[in-house]
Amino acid sequence: MIFPTANRSNWAKQKLQIVLSEGKMSDRRRAGKSKARSKAKSTYQKKTIALIYDFDGTLSPKPMQEYTFFPKIGQDPKQFWAEVGRLSKKHESEPLITYMHLMYKKAKERGVEIKRDELVNLGRQVDLFPGVLQWFKSIQAYLNARGEKSIELRHYMISSGLKEIIEGTKIFKEFHNVFASEYLFDAYDLPYPKRVITDTSKTQYLFRINKGIENLNDTINTHMPEAERPIPFQNMIYFGDGETDVPSMAVMRKNGGHSVAVYPPNGNRKTCINLFNAGRVDYFAAADYSKSSDLFRRTCLLIDKIISGINVAEESWKLQKSIKK
Ligand SMILES: [Mg+2]
Repeated sequence: MIFPTANRSNWAKQKLQIVLSEGKMSDRRRAGKSKARSKAKSTYQKKTIALIYDFDGTLSPKPMQEYTFFPKIGQDPKQFWAEVGRLSKKHESEPLITYMHLMYKKAKERGVEIKRDELVNLGRQVDLFPGVLQWFKSIQAYLNARGEKSIELRHYMISSGLKEIIEGTKIFKEFHNVFASEYLFDAYDLPYPKRVITDTSKTQYLFRINKGIENLNDTINTHMPEAERPIPFQNMIYFGDGETDVPSMAVMRKNGGHSVAVYPPNGNRKTCINLFNAGRVDYFAAADYSKSSDLFRRTCLLIDKIISGINVAEESWKLQKSIKK
């Protein structure tokens, strides 16, 4: 990239500031790391369970745009997705970038301006599957009833949908972190995709959770030995609804993690059966998140298994430590 001279000097100043602030950051990080290391020596650290969810079709029945953006601009969903398919094929373009571009192109054609805040507000209209609102409390209550006070339960979301819309949903606050596609709103005339999460790039975020590198400015590619990773795959359950979740489910299962597929209550479960038969998932169930559901019961069984795994590993860690004394 070539900058005009004036911009170049500004750029150099900014770069210097970044370098200086990175210096401060790395000091802080180093301090944080050594603190974490000394704590790590006295107690067993890998006691976090992570439940990780896809959004569209998993927590919500339809793609989120169908509750929000499309009604706002008067767009027929079927036609829109068909056009995304046609354009992606014609240009050999990534379908997710194509849909993010086409959404705002359509809005512009119809003279409708939708800013970030409004997209967040539209998120309130997104429908959720039965029991989703109570799910987070019920699962926590189950863990509490097991008396495992030192085990932390976290919820994460990894979605190809839009973070702006997810922020507006009632459940956004339940998540430790949400990784989703996002727009850069002031870059050009039309909002520009600043992060696109595809089926396969979803797996990057599984490794971010595994390695505890959730700050997106930090690289995920540096080698980290298994022993240093704060949330082992064995402590994770991934929830998804279909083919787009296959890369994530495969990563989970190959690394000793767990995955669960859901289908719409009273809907077609063929995809789930295929995933189950192919060994992609531990279980599948209707997307009913209430306490009396199969999904809740099967998730609790996996949590029981994870708790046992943590306790077994902790005992072994303590024994190892006692030998070294
Ligand atoms: Mg989905």
